[in-house]
Amino acid sequence: MAYQALYRVWRPQTFAQVVGQKIVTQTLKNSILTDQISHAYLFAGPRGTGKTSCAKIFAKAINCLTPVDGEPCNHCDICRAVNENRLTDVIEIDAASNNGVDEIRDIRDKVKYPPTEAKYKVYIIDEVHMLSTGAFNALLKTLEEPPAHVVFILATTEIQKVPATIISRTQRFNFRRITPADLTEQMVKILDQKQISYDEPALQVISRAADGGMRDALSILDQVLSFGQDHVSLANALEVTGDASDNQLADYLSAVFQKDLDQALQQITQLFANGRATTRLIESMIELFRNLLLQQNSPELVASLNYRPLPDSLKPFAQQLTTSQLYRMISDANETLQQLRNSTHGDLFLEVLTVRLVNLLRESGTTETPAAAAPAADQAVVTQLQSEVTKLQEQVSQLQQTGRSATTAAAKPKQVKHQAAPKINRQAIYQVLAAATKEDLSAVREVWPDLLDKLTPAKRAMMNVSEPVAASPAAIVVAFEYAFTLKTANEDQTLQNDLKQELNHFMNNDANIVLVEKDQWPGLRQDYIQDLHKKKQQQLGETQAATPAEPEQSPVVSQAEQLFGSNVVKIEKD
Ligand SMILES: [Zn+2]
Repeated sequence: MAYQALYRVWRPQTFAQVVGQKIVTQTLKNSILTDQISHAYLFAGPRGTGKTSCAKIFAKAINCLTPVDGEPCNHCDICRAVNENRLTDVIEIDAASNNGVDEIRDIRDKVKYPPTEAKYKVYIIDEVHMLSTGAFNALLKTLEEPPAHVVFILATTEIQKVPATIISRTQRFNFRRITPADLTEQMVKILDQKQISYDEPALQVISRAADGGMRDALSILDQVLSFGQDHVSLANALEVTGDASDNQLADYLSAVFQKDLDQALQQITQLFANGRATTRLIESMIELFRNLLLQQNSPELVASLNYRPLPDSLKPFAQQLTTSQLYRMISDANETLQQLRNSTHGDLFLEVLTVRLVNLLRESGTTETPAAAAPAADQAVVTQLQSEVTKLQEQVSQLQQTGRSATTAAAKPKQVKHQAAPKINRQAIYQVLAAATKEDLSAVREVWPDLLDKLTPAKRAMMNVSEPVAASPAAIVVAFEYAFTLKTANEDQTLQNDLKQELNHFMNNDANIVLVEKDQWPGLRQDYIQDLHKKKQQQLGETQAATPAEPEQSPVVSQAEQLFGSNVVKIEKD
């Protein structure tokens, strides 16, 4: 006999067998017991939560020759005919495949004929939101004057797409996601009956991946069983779902929370090597972030919800991370999840997400973490920077008072400490700009993704937050989203060599690469244009006015640069 999928074999035949929809099934049973049957029902809820099963049980129950307490008997001629899909009075329509007006018109024509065998004619329209506007209008006409012997059951996963005029003519039931506990219980029941042993955590992994759908849970269980018929192992469950084990995920997130980018990227590479699915990984991360958030705000709620349990090694971070950091991490992860839908480069997105999360934690800083050395140092840099700026401001005003022009002061190279901003190679950038063309830039941009593909995962992750912003035949300027990443890239000689080598390979030239921070780029470009403008004026032989030229700084240029000229902005880490 051909193998039958678990979800078919275990499809509920009575309301009592329906898992996780107690309110719905109780209400439906009561309406049958009290003989208050409505002409149209709307079953709304996520996929695999029992809508179609309930519709068929209801169709049987209202037609059953010997119903018991509102339940179908499943033995009489009618029940057996429905179970075997041969009762002509129960008509199932999949709107996803029959969305034409014609099919619904057909219903309108035939609806007036009484049922042939059963008491009620039952139309079950699955995925009703898929109907065309014309079909909805036709359906509406039928719903407005339904014959006494007809019952419509409309099922949908997307209630918001069903016209209000339809909804208002139906009795609505909301099917809820089935809790992981209920899903697990059902799987235990099935496995016990089949005398198959299982690892308890394997069932948790399957329940989480099923996302509240029984059909998905049983399909995954089927797949896991195809790996090994006599035992449901955790390893196989992780393999099928693409999920990471608690330990793997905890190791990765610990590295992220401790702002150890290298370690975090290594963990990611390892997860990929083991074939973990990006989407599932990010969903798992979001579940854990939410769990941490709840631990902070209402720990008593955590137990009642069915979030992925926190691995012990992550528990201390509930106190160390701030609420706003967790919110931002959830939002970044969500955003990545959306982007993933349109991409096949899942690994890249996860690497970029890793860099973003670590950066986010580094920039926002935390208090009282054991790994707090880094943020404390950041704070020290900021404080030092502030006092440095104050000192320099005083010097400038003194200089102005002693009659020396600000321009002379600015012409003298000053060293300003700039938080995390590496040295800007202004001369190199100006050289690129002097010879830059649109064509060169678009040529570089075209090969950029392929070029990045040649890098190791860690280096690629770093470069994924960068883009070429200017190019000449001799050099290109690459702007970085984050100051921190720019700094790391600037310090990484191997990366720069690899980049240059690949660039030269792709462009067939010997161009150099200059790195800048994205935020500073508009200011740099504007400075260059002003410089150029000044030089042109000088070339035109215009005598300089007695007053010193006051550079019109763009607002994007940092305050320190405005005050002290921008010849040298240098980072010094003491
Ligand atoms: Zn029956």
